[in-house]
Amino acid sequence: MVSLSFLNPLSSEGEEIVREKGSLDHISDINAELLMVVRESESQKISNDSYIPQSYADLAVKRVEWYARKKNDKKYNHNDYAFLLNPEITEFDVISFYIAAQSVGIKFKPNSRETRLMIEAQGKLVEERLEKIPSYQRKEIVDNLLNQLVFEDNIPWTSIAELLGSKKIRLADLILDQGEVILEKDDFMDRFDEKIIGRPSEKMYDLLIGERIKIMIITRMIMQNTENYIKRVHDMASKIEPHPSLLQIADQITEKINESISYYSSSGGGFGGDIKASELVHEAFPPCIQKTIEGVGSGNRNDAIVLLLTSFISYARLYPSVFRNDISMKISDIDADLQITINEILPLIYDAADRCTPPLFEDDPQEKLNITAKLGFGVHTIPELKNEGESKWYTPMSCEKIKIHLSSLCKPDATCKNIGNPLSYYNRKRWELRKSGGKSKTNEDTKNDE
Ligand code: SF4
Repeated sequence: MVSLSFLNPLSSEGEEIVREKGSLDHISDINAELLMVVRESESQKISNDSYIPQSYADLAVKRVEWYARKKNDKKYNHNDYAFLLNPEITEFDVISFYIAAQSVGIKFKPNSRETRLMIEAQGKLVEERLEKIPSYQRKEIVDNLLNQLVFEDNIPWTSIAELLGSKKIRLADLILDQGEVILEKDDFMDRFDEKIIGRPSEKMYDLLIGERIKIMIITRMIMQNTENYIKRVHDMASKIEPHPSLLQIADQITEKINESISYYSSSGGGFGGDIKASELVHEAFPPCIQKTIEGVGSGNRNDAIVLLLTSFISYARLYPSVFRNDISMKISDIDADLQITINEILPLIYDAADRCTPPLFEDDPQEKLNITAKLGFGVHTIPELKNEGESKWYTPMSCEKIKIHLSSLCKPDATCKNIGNPLSYYNRKRWELRKSGGKSKTNEDTKNDE
């Protein structure tokens, strides 16, 4: 049977492993036992040393690298990291979890990209590890994990208030009765059997709850506990001298995340651009955006600035290949400390808003909050990492929608032919400018011109 600490390193079994074997003194030493477990993992690629973690420190970095690549890199291959799903790795994995969490907690803020990826990686690992366990064993493991994490048989919804507050779980996903979250089939039948008409109650249980909801609660609780642990480490970090190895590991984690993001840039030529933030090329802006930047009259003003320009400028500056890659990102995945967003993107949008007649914020100051929301940071005055994810980072609307809702801005030129979105126009034009060797006017050039 799989050890519970393979799924929940913050369990008492996990803590015991760390107490016994978790000294930080030799975490970068080559560990022969770890090498053997990795090499013997089913389907694991071993043709290249870079696939194989050699030490606890390597494994700590690999845990985050695995998730960053899985999320960002189209060339991700599960067999590069098959060892992560091998239960034989449990002891090494638990120690490397603590090493990674402490490294991230010491070096980065609780809302940083590194912290977020560490938490998401742990959630994804739990999901994938549970999926790989044969179903006849999984039921018992899931129930044991739930007992370990929740204690009570019937969970009062207040005991998962933290998960609801941090939006890791939505109330709408749960079945509640008299303030309790219903998880067990017997309990469900006792409470609802007589009320369900026309469908077998057991099927309704499987449909509405079943193992799926239990696994969701387990995963989100482990993620929440990981987040709380990293926060505690971060708070402690100001009071004690961190172990130098942990700082090095934190830097390696950042490096691997950056690498995983930049894999896009080498994935082909064409006019798709890449995921790396790059200077804006004003010459490549389509006519609708040029007109918006010059200032818009009151009829189209709010939508032109808040919906069209905000999404266009932010994606053009940070992630112009969003449609080609078809993978959604958060702004901080690319602009980790939001310096580009605050110092370059927002001023461009605010300047355009001031050029409108009448100026947008004089008339509608609350539109500043909507601009922040369209960038993915909820309804707040300025984007802050702690609020990221409260709303979606909106992609630019299509030409079709612009022609309907903002028709006065659409004055197509030759490049607009066969283009479905202003961002595609921007990528194509940038590519054409580069190919023809024409000078591409950047943000900096424009500032100097003014
Ligand atoms: S066709 Fe599209 S890109 Fe061209 S001006 Fe109209 S909306 Fe903008």
